[in-house]
Amino acid sequence: MPVLRVALDLPLHRLFEYRAEQASVADIGRRVRVPFGRGEKIGIVVAVVEQGEWPLEQLKAATAILDDLPPLPDDFFALCEFASNYYQAPFGEVLMQALPVGLKRLAAPQRRAGRAVKAVAPLAPPALTAEQATAINAVAIAGGFSAHLLFGVTGSGKTEVYLRLIERTLALGEQVLLLVPEINLTPQLEARVRSRFPEHNVVALHSELAEAARERNWRAAFSGAAAIVLGTRLAVFTPLPRLGLILIDEEHDPSFKQQDGMRYSARDLAVVRARQQAVPILLGSATPSLETWANAQGSRYALLTLRERANPQARLPAVRLVDTRRMVLREGVSEALVSAIRQRLERGEQSLVFLNRRGYAPVLACPACGWVSRCHRCAANLVLHLADRRLRCHHCGLEERVPRACPTCGNQDIHPFGRGTQRVEEWLQGEFPDARILRVDRDSVKSRKQWEAMLDRIHGGEADILVGTQMLAKGHDFPKLTLVGVLGADSALYAADWRAPERLFAQLMQVAGRAGRAELEGEVLIQTQYPEHPLFAALVAQDYPGFAAGQLKEREQAGFPPYAFQAVLRAEAPAMADAMAFLAQAVVLPPVAEHEQVMLYDPVPMRMARLANLERAQLLVEAGSRPALQAFLPRWRAAIEQLKQPARLRWHLEVDPLEL
Ligand code: ADP
Ligand code: ZN
Ligand code: ZN
Repeated sequence: MPVLRVALDLPLHRLFEYRAEQASVADIGRRVRVPFGRGEKIGIVVAVVEQGEWPLEQLKAATAILDDLPPLPDDFFALCEFASNYYQAPFGEVLMQALPVGLKRLAAPQRRAGRAVKAVAPLAPPALTAEQATAINAVAIAGGFSAHLLFGVTGSGKTEVYLRLIERTLALGEQVLLLVPEINLTPQLEARVRSRFPEHNVVALHSELAEAARERNWRAAFSGAAAIVLGTRLAVFTPLPRLGLILIDEEHDPSFKQQDGMRYSARDLAVVRARQQAVPILLGSATPSLETWANAQGSRYALLTLRERANPQARLPAVRLVDTRRMVLREGVSEALVSAIRQRLERGEQSLVFLNRRGYAPVLACPACGWVSRCHRCAANLVLHLADRRLRCHHCGLEERVPRACPTCGNQDIHPFGRGTQRVEEWLQGEFPDARILRVDRDSVKSRKQWEAMLDRIHGGEADILVGTQMLAKGHDFPKLTLVGVLGADSALYAADWRAPERLFAQLMQVAGRAGRAELEGEVLIQTQYPEHPLFAALVAQDYPGFAAGQLKEREQAGFPPYAFQAVLRAEAPAMADAMAFLAQAVVLPPVAEHEQVMLYDPVPMRMARLANLERAQLLVEAGSRPALQAFLPRWRAAIEQLKQPARLRWHLEVDPLEL
């Protein structure tokens, strides 16, 4: 009697065996319904064997093997297996998280007809610049696996390169996987892809899609009916029978990193996948991640550069610093910025004031007794939202009404401290009463619909001044936008997180790239108290390579990634002592002594030590090479799993953490 070895979505590093009379190896890769505990579960058949590990009479029979889909292919298993090993995540969890929810349901999956794709009236593609042509040829002639970094400022024509490469791939009858950070923020890219390839089926895959649509699109990708899959990080696992090319737009974007469950980097997995399936991969960015940049400086990735803006009339904006040290600022805004905005208003152009902090003020405080609005569940302040008169925790979502007086001493004169987008918006409205001001942040834009409506208003010229967070920084073309003012950038300059400068530089380059996209010249004013900081010098010169070289040198000296390889073990519990004690046990487990090339640091409370009533601590693991770290982790993880732990403690391992 055949025995099925089944992967289930459970936090256990093992497979489960079931009897199945009619099964054969042809069922490997099919979904299967099996009894589990008192109920049933959907799993995936990983192997069909004659002799299981358990005596046959102890095995339960599988309820049904589902054959509404062809079996999942070997390459899907290969990628999941890699991810499972690399990220120390149970194989069953990895397989199951890669499937759309509808396919994991016990209820019979519903079949729906595919949706016809709207054909738009396509524009003729522009003649390529020499640099674009070189980049396209480099990828096209490579053959088999090859990894390329397409490095080019915003507007340099990276998307056009993607489109041409897609065109070539489709002509060969192959499929393209195009990964983007947050699809909702870039409806323009999706529209461009659809309109360029009206004859082809383009499907989107991201977590905001309705469940049925996501399943339908996934099936279209898997069956080969979809030629182009445009997706966010979860789409990296989509089985594609004729995959011919992988593209990653804005490869540096932190949202390619999954921050819960299996903490994987979709960008890194995409490179692994390209190698496994012997196809080319192209990573695009104006500000590559330093890991990728280091790979492109070495021989791992080929570096393809687009130096100029593709549209010859669109020049790069001039970036200037506003030294605020000896200035009187009004509500944090300098006279230089005010008069630059006034000029734009007079000329009928748009301005953008960028402040990456939403809300009215980051905290409400009492000058009499020192009370500040704190979240009682987190190690964080409650942010003042005046628009709906709430104090809100941006970490756990806790909300309170704004008190009329200080809750401690009764003082009625309590003040907002610092400023967020709402406060800047309010002040600008007072300063420019006739201007139409639009605030764009996660409070004013909550859904894709609202976002598209907002973009329409901006494009339609219904706004003179935009006040926004990084939502506005990403990939949009606002032809009338000629001024970007940056407030509050200094706080990231000397942050404890050594990745903060990398993120700040990328963010500012990106937001600066919004200015002067069309014929009108753009100007960027950055307010700072540290005008001598090398990060700003690089920004003014728009010199990413110089910035990256400096950062990489610092990291090499300090022994940080990409010159070291890290993992972190985190524990959270109602009491910090429990979390710390658990990590202290992990530091001295036997595998630690046997892996001399791996170094473990002392457990420490996390920078944000309390989140939603849980105390959090972490333990950093570092090695000089990836293989050394990878040899250590599975043994260590297995030992950690055997540790006794307090009932309400939870832990996880993260490999290649972005935030420490
Ligand atoms: P990126 O993706 O690097 O931001 P895009 O591909 O969106 O750049 O190109 C920026 C603008 O330049 C777009 O309006 C695009 O249509 C235009 N463009 C791209 N390539 C060319 C070209 N070779 N000649 C003229 N215009 C181009
Ligand atoms: Zn008080
Ligand atoms: Zn909170």
